[in-house]
Amino acid sequence: MGPYPGGMTTSPEATDLVDQDAGRTKRVLLAKPRGYCAGVDRAVVTVEKALETYGPPIYVRKEIVHNRHVVDTLSERGVIFVDETDEVPEGALVVFSAHGVSPAVHAEAARRNLRTIDATCPLVTKVHKEVNRFAREDYDILLIGHEGHEEVEGTAGEAPDRVQLVDKPEDVDKVQVRDPSRVVWLSQTTLSVDETMERVDQLKKRFPDLQAPPSDDICYATSNRQQAVKAMAPECDLVIVVGSQNSSNSKRLVEVALQAGAGDAHLVDYASQIDEQWLEGVTTVGVTSGASVPDVLVMQVLDHLAERGWNHVDEVTTANEKVTFALPRELRKDLDDNPTKPRSVR
Ligand code: SF4
Repeated sequence: MGPYPGGMTTSPEATDLVDQDAGRTKRVLLAKPRGYCAGVDRAVVTVEKALETYGPPIYVRKEIVHNRHVVDTLSERGVIFVDETDEVPEGALVVFSAHGVSPAVHAEAARRNLRTIDATCPLVTKVHKEVNRFAREDYDILLIGHEGHEEVEGTAGEAPDRVQLVDKPEDVDKVQVRDPSRVVWLSQTTLSVDETMERVDQLKKRFPDLQAPPSDDICYATSNRQQAVKAMAPECDLVIVVGSQNSSNSKRLVEVALQAGAGDAHLVDYASQIDEQWLEGVTTVGVTSGASVPDVLVMQVLDHLAERGWNHVDEVTTANEKVTFALPRELRKDLDDNPTKPRSVR
């Protein structure tokens, strides 16, 4: 029926709105909000501006954001991604990713005389500050999050002696605290809202005085994207989530879609990964994307679906986001002296 979001229009001759087998209208429901959040946008622009201002090579510790396309595109432009700061030559420039780093990583970078730009999302930094505050007040901190995720490693690293990770339901029984009246739960920013509350309920049964974070740790972008997918999932035979396998918030969108009633749901990096079998017998396809996904990849999925008859696109809007974050202060001063506009990975 209508134009694609972003001004693209369907071609009438290609339109095949009726699935001949089912006699029903083929359509796409497109979630909004989806894709880039303010923290990812800031982190990607940070690397782009660093490239323009200082020239390649720019080192980035870990993937700047968890998206294959973004990482590949920046690599082609002279960014070298490393796992640890000891892979960065002495004195070189390294950017810390949106997921944040522990104080130990900052200390190691300083010891090796690295120039650093910290692209940690301010909403991750907020959780780091909460850890510090509750550790100072001598609380035991139960951090709900996924074991091995970079954000969790950075956050727990703020007070390793005070933080215990709670990932799976069975972890709740393993927690040991010194004083059950001084326990607080905090969380990774990109979890499933519903699953996190299940874990909190479990913890409360063991620790009735359990304190909650001063404000939500699961960020606005994560919860908004889950809300949007929840709204459309019951109407979808299939939900396609654009995002990478190592992206926590993207994987959660697949789970949320299935829990909210989608017939099927899959995560893909690119449209080419859509299996033709997923589309068999399908009338309504939901499309969304994780917070680290450039919208160009979503548009490619819409093109792919349109070529197969799904060219009626309705956007399902559950929130309008207006959040933006200033660039890291290390960059701001240099940019004032060298105001150039980089190309953007979008
Ligand atoms: S998902 Fe949330 S916490 Fe992570 S970068 Fe985006 S806004 Fe920040």
